[in-house]
Amino acid sequence: MTFDEFDLDSALFEGIEKMGYHKPTPVQQEAIPLMLDRADVLVGAATGTGKTAAFVLPALQYLLDEPKPARNPRVLILAPTRELAFQIHKTVKQLGTACDFPAAVITGGFNQARQAQTLKEPTDILVATPGRLAKMMEEDQVNLSYVELLILDEADRMLDMGQGPTVRTLLEAIPGDFQAALFSATLSGAGVRKFAEEILDEPEEVQI
Ligand code: AMP
Repeated sequence: MTFDEFDLDSALFEGIEKMGYHKPTPVQQEAIPLMLDRADVLVGAATGTGKTAAFVLPALQYLLDEPKPARNPRVLILAPTRELAFQIHKTVKQLGTACDFPAAVITGGFNQARQAQTLKEPTDILVATPGRLAKMMEEDQVNLSYVELLILDEADRMLDMGQGPTVRTLLEAIPGDFQAALFSATLSGAGVRKFAEEILDEPEEVQI
């Protein structure tokens, strides 16, 4: 299988080429078409499988398909750690090199006032850790009511780190009809299953 078989805009092929990807990995082969079809997905895939591009490419395609002037975040990607959030943000910039959708990254450990200033600029894609994002929401520094696509990366790790309740609070700020994708290294735990049930609507399941 090649990337050409996906219904992706030519702008994204520039990013794929820039990254030096020749062929989609198994998780990309399975998850990308489902997300492009606007299905909710529950994906069991560990780090190193190419899971990041498996959700970043459909997220970029979503924005290409539904153009609107950038203002508040329309794609929200949550990650359990700062390192992962920064890595995802980098992949968004690299794969989206030819689209230039404004993307921001918000995590703990950095000046919150400066991050609030960043979010005053138009932002299509927001990558964040749950704790700092919840704090900024409480302080009215971020508006999540325009989110149309929600992606949770390493959801099992989020739960292990005790971020479940914070994520649930964030979800309350997002209006009903959003597409959602939950990625997790393992799908076997009862915690992840329950979390997925709360967030996803009739999800398609992919296990790598
Ligand atoms: P991830 O599982 O998202 O952390 O990705 C692991 C590594 O695989 C990263 O260095 C990616 O840039 C790389 N990668 C992702 N997709 C592909 C692909 N289709 N072909 C080659 N490398 C890839």
